[in-house]
Amino acid sequence: MNVDAMRKVVSDLHAELVRYGLVAWTAGNVSGRVPGEELFVIKPSGVSYDELSPENMVVCDLDGDLVEGAHAPSSDTAAHAYVYRNMPEVGGVVHTHSTYASAWAARGESVPCVLTAMADEFGGEIPVGPFALIGDDSIGQGVVSTLKGHRSPAVLMRNHGVFSIGKDPKAAVKAAVMCEDVARTVHVARQLGTPLPIARDDVDRLYDRYQNVYGQRSPR
Ligand SMILES: [Zn+2]
Repeated sequence: MNVDAMRKVVSDLHAELVRYGLVAWTAGNVSGRVPGEELFVIKPSGVSYDELSPENMVVCDLDGDLVEGAHAPSSDTAAHAYVYRNMPEVGGVVHTHSTYASAWAARGESVPCVLTAMADEFGGEIPVGPFALIGDDSIGQGVVSTLKGHRSPAVLMRNHGVFSIGKDPKAAVKAAVMCEDVARTVHVARQLGTPLPIARDDVDRLYDRYQNVYGQRSPR
């Protein structure tokens, strides 16, 4: 896949953020690493989702510096770049402020693994990352330090929102969608009682089956 193909993939995937209700205004972004190149494609800053096109996507190097594009890259570009520099297996990164997941982030509380779908997709809880201000590598560092060595492809950055990763941008979008879905369900479950944990062995079995046997999925 070359730069132009990745421009189209990344542009099209932003429609999924809208379709699944993960974003308000322009606050959410998808990026995709260009295979074999030290480049990634990301959303332009401040452009509304229905104005996005392959042509107005922005191409950056792995330092987050602009390589191609008429617009400035997303204000979250430094975080995406940090992830690509430090996690070579990652081919896609997504950031959203989706409501239920961000509500867990606002409390600094990880989403406990109480659904088989969570064991399948996240292999356990969805962890919380540190509080970090935008503007330097702090957010990227928090994402990488939390997700490295963790099965979850999504992290709830404290007081902020979700960062998710995948082998490609579509897998990262799927993780963002599933993160919001289970954050909502576990929130609802909490309203009437205490959700029941799933035994560690069962989590492991579910995760292994889903990642290695079910379908052809292998996100990381
Ligand atoms: Zn944000």
